[in-house]
Amino acid sequence: MTTRIAVDVQSLSKRYGDTIAAADVSFEVRQGEIFGVLGPNGAGKTTVIECLATLRRPDRGRVRVLGLDPQRDARALRPRIGVQLQSAALQERIKLWEALDLFASFYRRARDWRALLTQLGLAESADIPFGRLSGGQKQRAFIGLALINQPEVVFLDELTTSLDPHARHAIWNLVQEIREQGVTVFLTTHVMEEAERLCDRVAILSRGRIVALDSPQHLVRVFGVGCRISFSAPEPFDVRDLAAVAGVDRVERVGERVIVQGRSDGLVADIVGSLTAMGVRCMDLRAEQATLEDVFIELTGETLRETRTEEECEALRS
Ligand code: ADP
Repeated sequence: MTTRIAVDVQSLSKRYGDTIAAADVSFEVRQGEIFGVLGPNGAGKTTVIECLATLRRPDRGRVRVLGLDPQRDARALRPRIGVQLQSAALQERIKLWEALDLFASFYRRARDWRALLTQLGLAESADIPFGRLSGGQKQRAFIGLALINQPEVVFLDELTTSLDPHARHAIWNLVQEIREQGVTVFLTTHVMEEAERLCDRVAILSRGRIVALDSPQHLVRVFGVGCRISFSAPEPFDVRDLAAVAGVDRVERVGERVIVQGRSDGLVADIVGSLTAMGVRCMDLRAEQATLEDVFIELTGETLRETRTEEECEALRS
């Protein structure tokens, strides 16, 4: 069976004046996939999602969503997609059920909003005005509005930004449920854990360019630093002796703490064995696996939480 492609983007570019928001971006999203675009603020994520969701015209490139051109075929495409944008807002006094009922009236193939409220865990809140919902409830409500027309592809832009961990987990479960119902999910995030937990594949976007694209697990395996082992050694010893252990990439000492980075499977056992053989007493030993965040730093030199300064934005306009 051949995999059907829900979103096909080839060489998408978009500038705002001198700012390059998307530069030669290409990727495909398979039907039924949860696909994520991961990058810090200003990377170009919203621009890409807006170009796919009929809301922005690319300068160059070929974009197809469900085989349709989001600009030329916008009228045919809109009923088949759902969109939740960061900038989404609703009138504060509209009740939740009224908003869903109103949005449902725009479509021929709308879902029953009562069942949708139950799926969103918002059945009890149907009569609450939008302005009185919590942050997590508002986000679930926006996801509900994006699902009201039974879309085949749903676009979710930074959907858990500013939510507490509990609300964030509830939204992740919801996104997984949406996919289980056969909907293709395209999301953007700067939350590394969100990409790791949810996405089948992730495109890492930095300054408008895709710098890597693969499953989170594969990205970590290929680009990650592997494993980071740290421990305290109160008595001095020559840390260079650890650099000779097979699989070790880097050893550094920060005060009493020694940090070893490497990529072999048995690295922890080898380091402990080596320390024992050298008679080095070590305390508080910790081992951490590489994460997507390490991959991101390795590839871009930026951190995901980094927000660009005005000077950096200025430098980009070149
Ligand atoms: P992200 O969603 O990753 O934060 P955006 O797509 O919003 O990134 O923005 C990418 C770059 O384009 C940023 O430098 C941003 O300041 C700039 N930008 C976005 N929208 C506009 C706009 N309407 N006019 C001018 N510049 C914009």
